[in-house]
Amino acid sequence: MVKYVFITGGVLSSVGKGVTTASVALLFQSMGYSVTIIKIDPYINVDAGTMNPYAHGEVFVTEDGGETDLDIGHYERFLNKNLSKKNNITTGQIYYSVIMKERKGEFLGATVQIIPHITNEIKSRIKEVVEEDKVDIVFIEIGGTVGDIEGLPFLEAARQMRLEEGFSNTAFIHVALVPSLRVTGEQKTKPVQHSVQELRRIGIQPDIIVARCEKPLTPEARAKIALFSNIPPEAVISNYDVNNIYEVPLILYEQGIHLILADRLKLPVHNPKIDHWIDFVERLNRSSQPLKIAMIGKYTRLRDSYISIVEAIKHSSAYLGVKPIFKWIESTDIEDGKIKIDDELNGIQGALILPGFGKRGSEGKVIALKYLREHNIPTLGICFGFELIVIEVARNIVGLKEANSSELDSDTQHPVIDLLPSQQGVNIMGGTMRLGSRPIKLIKGTVVYSAYGVEYVMERHRHRYGVNNKYLDLLEAAGLITSGINVEDSVVEYMELKQHRFYVGTQAHPEFKSRPLQPSPIYTYFLKCALNSS
Ligand code: GLN
Repeated sequence: MVKYVFITGGVLSSVGKGVTTASVALLFQSMGYSVTIIKIDPYINVDAGTMNPYAHGEVFVTEDGGETDLDIGHYERFLNKNLSKKNNITTGQIYYSVIMKERKGEFLGATVQIIPHITNEIKSRIKEVVEEDKVDIVFIEIGGTVGDIEGLPFLEAARQMRLEEGFSNTAFIHVALVPSLRVTGEQKTKPVQHSVQELRRIGIQPDIIVARCEKPLTPEARAKIALFSNIPPEAVISNYDVNNIYEVPLILYEQGIHLILADRLKLPVHNPKIDHWIDFVERLNRSSQPLKIAMIGKYTRLRDSYISIVEAIKHSSAYLGVKPIFKWIESTDIEDGKIKIDDELNGIQGALILPGFGKRGSEGKVIALKYLREHNIPTLGICFGFELIVIEVARNIVGLKEANSSELDSDTQHPVIDLLPSQQGVNIMGGTMRLGSRPIKLIKGTVVYSAYGVEYVMERHRHRYGVNNKYLDLLEAAGLITSGINVEDSVVEYMELKQHRFYVGTQAHPEFKSRPLQPSPIYTYFLKCALNSS
């Protein structure tokens, strides 16, 4: 029998439910069970692709081209496993498919209702993932907070699954905030009590409470939560603040969350094999040599906008034994003249030009790129960052002063970056970019080839524009050479500047494939060059 574990949230959102879910799943995977994780997002968007990063943070991209919630990125990194776009279910998808079925007449004259039609669709989507992935345990994180109107159909579907699948095949973990008063340090359990009551009101009794708190729970707070939630005190777990998210599985393990959950699900307990994870966490915490990296983008006020890039840098840093010091630079502030680039980049050892869309902030990135190129500072441009590398070189080395991307100026005389041929005539915005994993052929003798050490690599993508191949000869003559290309659709995937320590741009997003113990080769190589240049 497949086991279904639902994770709900209480009190506040953004308390690390995704990391908690990934951590518990990792412990069961380390016990030898095959696991997967589904994220449910109760919003009406079909996927995260059309959302501004300031709304929910980064849009994560799966191998199969899904534009998903950033929690899918945490799951992939913790489980070291590729997930599918099907692992992110939204209200939009559920209603879209129920309405399509209704239009086709599949409900045979019935009145189509939230219960049972919407809840049935939710259950069948969860089961579809389980069947395709053939797992022993599926963890289902229900986004938002208990009490949200839009989350109700999902909680109702979960409640029904407990009845249908059986008590020992379903479990509920409730993750909720336990704030503490600044003056006395006292941990307040009332908000958790209320959110558990709210869960019970809709027929769900949690089996485990994970309390997000600053410090480990006091015995009094634990006892109180247990009493009011109707569970034993050992089923109340503290998820207190740690140095980095990768320590969370370890603190949950120490408190025996895997034992309680395994017992609840009637699963044999094996000792989790987490030595490799402990090694990684120790390396991460031990790495002390500082490396100053500039992060230049236009969504820098919400760090979650670039979370996979930050995590990729951490993975590579742990591998190299360095401690990255991030300096966030808002590109709109550069173009508005609010900050001076030479002051900002003083003492920087490497720079990342972050991905993005649209005109705002783009000229700020071009100004930064000119400085980085002229000062021989190792630079990595990701997707939009790569496109701006091409524009800067075209303007300032090739001499095409008007060079631009047709995304930023549709009338530009020199569209060195242009809409991809495959994107001509596309006018639906959702899910239509060049998405997902694609093969890249690397050119021998280039820096990028040395970084990967192989001729073919697969990286993930999310873009509509790319290098206009009519300008390739001019760019190459100026020293910006092609180091990777897709042989099927001729999209230039990697370019690099000769005579520079490390000046590389890629149309791909290698950060999406970086894992704690398998860092992205290009990020590692970039950091290595940054380290050697100073
Ligand atoms: N806006 C650019 C494009 O669509 C880059 C996208 C990105 O950085 N992900 O091509």
